[in-house]
Amino acid sequence: MPRSTSPGAFRIHASNLQRRIDRLAEVATTRLAYSEEDIRGRQLAMEMMREVGLVVSVDAAGNILGRRAGSRNLPPILFGSHIDTVREAGRFDGVLGVVAAIECVAVLQATDLLTLHPLEVVIFANEEGQNFGALCGSRAAVGDISSEDLQRSDASGRTLSDAIRGVGGKPEELESSIYADGRFCAFVELHIEQGGELDRLGIPIGAVEGISGIQHTDVLISGIANHSGTTTMEARHDALAAAAELILVVREMALQLHSCRVANVGRLVVSPNSVNIVPGSVELTVELRDMQATRIARTMEAIKRRTEDIGERYGVSFEFLDRKFMEPVPAHPAVLAAIEESCQALQFPFQRIPSGAGHDAQMMARIAPMGMIFVPSVGGISHSSKEFTEAEDCARGAEVLLETILRLDRLPDEAAIGVAYS
Ligand SMILES: [Zn+2]
Repeated sequence: MPRSTSPGAFRIHASNLQRRIDRLAEVATTRLAYSEEDIRGRQLAMEMMREVGLVVSVDAAGNILGRRAGSRNLPPILFGSHIDTVREAGRFDGVLGVVAAIECVAVLQATDLLTLHPLEVVIFANEEGQNFGALCGSRAAVGDISSEDLQRSDASGRTLSDAIRGVGGKPEELESSIYADGRFCAFVELHIEQGGELDRLGIPIGAVEGISGIQHTDVLISGIANHSGTTTMEARHDALAAAAELILVVREMALQLHSCRVANVGRLVVSPNSVNIVPGSVELTVELRDMQATRIARTMEAIKRRTEDIGERYGVSFEFLDRKFMEPVPAHPAVLAAIEESCQALQFPFQRIPSGAGHDAQMMARIAPMGMIFVPSVGGISHSSKEFTEAEDCARGAEVLLETILRLDRLPDEAAIGVAYS
């Protein structure tokens, strides 16, 4: 008989989690996707999965799945993250979500608890996209990788297809093994925040409201290049000075006007880029991120309006080219509620926060109700060897993950999620 499932009945021991994090770090801290180090990390992770009784398989896209049976014939609850890294990475990005998922299963195993739904732990291939683009494994799993993508090659000339095959995937079967909508009951991912909000507020858990949408718009500012010694200040058509004002407007939109969550100009090309020539043209990219597409659109419109005045004062013209837009991906209300109720039951302070970074969860949201749990990154540092999350925070995150899974498992039936989902 399964034992009691009262909240907090299952402790995740911080030391067990740390041991698993250490073991993966010992393989190598830089494990670029599909590299030898990544493959060794994957082998170790699969070993850990088998140790806790998971039945391990690799899907066509090279994602690792570990299954634990449930007592009923229901769609599995999927949870996990990734273990591939950026160059000179930290120890927690992705890894925490995977080792916590394994530790959750270890705890269930030790206490003999059988869930109603089968449980599946997933390790997505190539989340970081240091080659072949980000979220490769999760994109492939939902049918977002084309046959042209598979033929693309990295700097070494290896194709994505070969890379997937190298980690045990079957690129030729990619199309036939796409995860169908409804295949999973839900997807939950625990991840370090990567930003500094939770750390700053001293709050241990972030209930992620969703993954921010992103707008990239190229702006071409055209003035007139001329001799910087002979052209009077009044006669100039200085594209770079106009760009400087535009950059401050973009910053003001998020910082003072709160028109969108964050705004950035991180790319600038000045022409002719010479010390003694008044800049004739500038090309830059404005990036806006927010949880609401309408706020992103309104902010971009406001920025465009402000350039009318800038253009007049500097004698330059502005041209806008919307290059990329990614819709915000909200967390599923039922999964978000399960996360927040778990925090309450475990008496962990929590706060709703958006994710500024992309995650595999945004792909899984296409086929399953999705939710994410964040834990603090000290100083908001990530993608760096200085990345750090306190052991106790890691353990609290894992306990919320386990409690969330058990709550989702006990929801009356699929309809409870299905209704809210549609
Ligand atoms: Zn990550």
